Amino acid sequence: MSLPIVAIVGRPNVGKSTLFNRIIKSRVAIVEDEAGVTRDRIYAKAEWMGHEFILIDTGGITLESGEIEEQIKAQAEIAIDEADVIVLLGDVTSHMTNMDETIAKMLYRTKKPVILAVNKADNPEQRTDIYDFYSLGFGDPIPVSGSHGTGIGDLLDAVVGEFGDKANQHEDDAIRFSVIGRPNVGKSSIVNAILGEQRVIVADMEGTTRDAIDTSFTHDGQKYTIVDTAGIRRRGKVYEKTEKYSVLRAVSAIENSDLTLLVLDASTGIREQDKHVAGYAHDAGRGVIIVVNKWDLPEKDAHSMKQFEQTIRQEFQYLDYAPIIFVSAKTGQRIPDILNLVDEVHENQTRRIQSSVLNDLLLEATRITPTPLVNGKRLRIYYMTQVAINPPTFVVFVNDPELLHFSYKRFLINQLRQNFDFKGTPIKILARKRK
Ligand code: GDP
Ligand code: GDP
Repeated sequence: MSLPIVAIVGRPNVGKSTLFNRIIKSRVAIVEDEAGVTRDRIYAKAEWMGHEFILIDTGGITLESGEIEEQIKAQAEIAIDEADVIVLLGDVTSHMTNMDETIAKMLYRTKKPVILAVNKADNPEQRTDIYDFYSLGFGDPIPVSGSHGTGIGDLLDAVVGEFGDKANQHEDDAIRFSVIGRPNVGKSSIVNAILGEQRVIVADMEGTTRDAIDTSFTHDGQKYTIVDTAGIRRRGKVYEKTEKYSVLRAVSAIENSDLTLLVLDASTGIREQDKHVAGYAHDAGRGVIIVVNKWDLPEKDAHSMKQFEQTIRQEFQYLDYAPIIFVSAKTGQRIPDILNLVDEVHENQTRRIQSSVLNDLLLEATRITPTPLVNGKRLRIYYMTQVAINPPTFVVFVNDPELLHFSYKRFLINQLRQNFDFKGTPIKILARKRK
């Protein structure tokens, strides 16, 4: 069994080598008061709470020639290619720099977990100075001090916390989508219609940890993977037709995909079981596209589509962000539009909005609709920043998180939707107390 690989990346002098040594608990590398000192060791086995892993100090891997910028880019590439978990290290004493942002931008391209740590937080005051780094978009920065050894446990907890998902890491840049729905709505017919002429690679993963079938293909230069492909996975096992098993399959397919096509049947209308399936898709926080299939069957007039759409909006109110497309797997009507919509939703769920733009929006939003008074106390929102994609997740720094109620949160989400294209993806807003 191969050990997970953890790579530390960051610009020179943030303390990568110091942290590396602290983690491997021996002082093998030379730490000097200047950038670019030679290190005799960049690769070591480490252990935390019973989890063994390989630790790489990418700062020790340098090109024969090249500007600092190029060196750092190469280091980030190595981390992206080799590591299972990436630790991006910043330095609180020099605050955030353009170089930190350059590295972060490179790391956005990877689906691997990136943990943000900010070094040289030697005392409590400095530990509160780390919030600058929120805007890098990798969630809560973890304050550490490589030289004092503080915060290292929290950092390693976060690192080993990512190991469990190793089987679910997908290294290629394919858009992964699943096709779900109750039996007979036409899932396999849709998959076959989409695949049509595409060059298809069916990867049967039976016997591996994930007992599922994924189908990969390329269309207009974009790679796609249909996760746990409906219809192909029919092995005649007795449990396959049971409700619980199909729920299990659907949930795991959704969890393993970026977005989900929720298929409905135009000839039968919406049934109770459709609502259950839709609920799983929504709960997972992935993108959702509602595909109304068998559009060739019902008698239609100019209003049919609008009416069906209204029914869907009523029945699935929580999926208000999901676009609806009316197709026929049988005649092929609008089947090519499905992939266009998949592209669009994927772009939206990976969209990043700059903090400055968000804060302009916040200012305007709180001007139109002032923050509420709750038991005589007014909610104050100081700052807003995006901390994650897929789903786009925003943190608002407030005076008291308890004061941010559902309705004002929904108002903020609506403001985001009105100003940016987030069609097809849920949006999360988290409140943090500003210290
Ligand atoms: P790297 O080249 O980016 O990996 O950084 P180094 O590990 O070589 O450290 C650069 C400088 O920062 C050295 O002078 C270290 O002594 C210092 N340093 C590293 N970690 C800390 C820390 O936690 N606190 C403080 N105050 N200095 C640190
Ligand atoms: P699944 O169980 O959701 O995978 O559904 P299937 O793809 O096996 O389709 C169930 C039945 O619906 C089959 O008899 C299909 O031929 C039929 N069907 C699927 N799509 C369409 C469609 O767009 N129009 C019509 N008229 N029938 C369809």
